[in-house]
Amino acid sequence: MDELNVINAKRQFDIGNFDFGGKEKIYISGPCSVESYDSMREIAKELKAIGVNMLRGGIYKPRTSPHDFQGIGDDGLSILSSIKKEFDIPVSTEILDIRDIEKAVNHIDVIQIGTRNMYNYTLLNEVAKTKLPIILKRGMSATIREWILAAEYIAKAGNNKIIFCERGIRSFETITRNTIDINAVAYMKEVYNLPVIVDPSHGTGIRDIVKRTSFAAIACGADGLIIESHVNPDNAISDAAQTIDIKTMKEIIDTGNKINSLLL
Ligand code: PEP
Ligand code: MN
Repeated sequence: MDELNVINAKRQFDIGNFDFGGKEKIYISGPCSVESYDSMREIAKELKAIGVNMLRGGIYKPRTSPHDFQGIGDDGLSILSSIKKEFDIPVSTEILDIRDIEKAVNHIDVIQIGTRNMYNYTLLNEVAKTKLPIILKRGMSATIREWILAAEYIAKAGNNKIIFCERGIRSFETITRNTIDINAVAYMKEVYNLPVIVDPSHGTGIRDIVKRTSFAAIACGADGLIIESHVNPDNAISDAAQTIDIKTMKEIIDTGNKINSLLL
């Protein structure tokens, strides 16, 4: 694993006013897709009130089927930036295409690289140049080594603000959407002390088990969580089955913080 020791990722850095990688866990939440200004605003207002530190919301959506909703696209940028200002909260969205980077960079605080693009080294090099922190989701079949080396592309291109995100890997299991690799979280923290968050929404695909798996992630030493939530989860345009309500999100934050305090 020696070549991996060259990874030049920061262990602690600011995201808005939040000290990421410090003592407190980061809670990132919001809908799978930004649906409209009004619904995003309502969700943001509620999430801010319960202590969420950063909003998520996809505008360019990498859907498995080309026939499914592909996101609202560029219109989402102004929605995200006005909500970010109104509620004084950082926002993140996924970038899929190098042609969207320049448009997006002034509207968002953190760039998400999705599981399907972890191996897209051209995209990694280009997003790195923005100097914004990058959430690097693990490829759904990527080894830990491949994941770390993907991050190394970002670091080598001059950006060491990398947030590794374990979002579940493919296994033989079909009842859950993916399998959260808790080993990877423990390994990344213990061996490299790298910043890692967990996405129990895509990691499970089932809203009823998002809470318990969130607690496991915090207990395992993850630096935070990224969770899909909505004021009306059943009506979410994408990923409704794994989207939780605001009340559940609050329980996750409150108990997550208690678990964290036991480990400090
Ligand atoms: C998402 O966060 O909405 C998403 C598409 O995630 P992933 O890349 O992990 O599937
Ligand atoms: Mn989703």
